[in-house]
Amino acid sequence: MIEDKNQNRTSLNEIGEFKLIELLTRNFKIKHKSTIKGIGDDAAVIDPDQKQIVITTDLLVEGVHFDLSYVPLKHLGYKSVIVNLSDVYAMNAEATQITISIAVSNRFPLEALEELYAGVETAAKIYNVDVVGGDTTSSNSGLLISITAIGVINKGEEIYRNGAKPNDLLVVTGDLGGAYMGLQILEREKEVFKVNPNNQPDLDGYTYIIERQLKPEARKDIIKLLKDLGVKPTAMIDISDGLSSEILHLCMHSKVGCDIYENKIPLDPQVISTCEEFKIDSTTIALNGGEDYELLMTISQEDFPKIKANPNLTIIGHITEENAGANLITRAETKIPLQAQGWKNFNNSN
Ligand code: ADP
Ligand code: MG
Repeated sequence: MIEDKNQNRTSLNEIGEFKLIELLTRNFKIKHKSTIKGIGDDAAVIDPDQKQIVITTDLLVEGVHFDLSYVPLKHLGYKSVIVNLSDVYAMNAEATQITISIAVSNRFPLEALEELYAGVETAAKIYNVDVVGGDTTSSNSGLLISITAIGVINKGEEIYRNGAKPNDLLVVTGDLGGAYMGLQILEREKEVFKVNPNNQPDLDGYTYIIERQLKPEARKDIIKLLKDLGVKPTAMIDISDGLSSEILHLCMHSKVGCDIYENKIPLDPQVISTCEEFKIDSTTIALNGGEDYELLMTISQEDFPKIKANPNLTIIGHITEENAGANLITRAETKIPLQAQGWKNFNNSN
């Protein structure tokens, strides 16, 4: 959060585009044999070896998707990769390559971009993907990052949003709302810092939720887990915009309804205590918070014995007929239609 005034600053104008690309990409190593040609030519060449290719892109814009006053560039690089990989895993695919394109204003020195790329490199290493290309250009103001992730999947193993059937179980991984509450803490500390720059941020007791915001993970492990359990979900989506909006996507594409139970939504204790501190309803946050990058899936009742004892998978409800609508069953056992955003009517009841 505090800028280091002594850091080296090499102006981008000094080095030029060609040298910049070379410096940023020199550490990337090719790990997949499907990568025939990586960085260095007009285009990369990939050999999918009989498999189907999965492709997804995200564009992140400074001031819209991230705020550099509290997001370290290394974390931003890491997270930019994660948000894309999450979409690949949500198809039940294996992520294999990424490309990364950046537009930067000359307010960024080389060292800042090297930090960003250190984060990209770390994510690429941990998630075992090759960085095979990108583009570098200038921007008049902020920083833009666009990442494309490429993955492979055997024919017939892909999982879409449209396969959910009445009576299927609705299952989520991990816990929800942490990334949003982490953001609230960071925003609060930013305001404190503005008033008194000598104040060191007090982040003790919030480490889990701040990490959920700054260093999210994509659920590659769940793809393996499902394979190991011998479970193929009927539909799947990653939770980037909040549980509520993802459930509605899934129901719309599958032409079904659902009942989810408020008391089943998985929350970390730190999310609950921080919501209490901010006097906001934790269910609202879990439903609308976003950026948790967990997976939401529907699983056939027949597979219940295979998933029931698994701590990674929480059953939060079930699929119903389309005309029943998508509903939340509250702790008080009232039925409330799920809304994509806001869900304001419930804001004040704790
Ligand atoms: P072109 O003029 O054909 O677009 P570039 O000079 O932009 O070629 O890129 C040269 C090589 O470097 C290409 O392989 C490209 O994919 C890669 N590349 C360019 N910019 C980046 C970047 N920001 N990150 C990773 N790879 C990059
Ligand atoms: Mg180019």
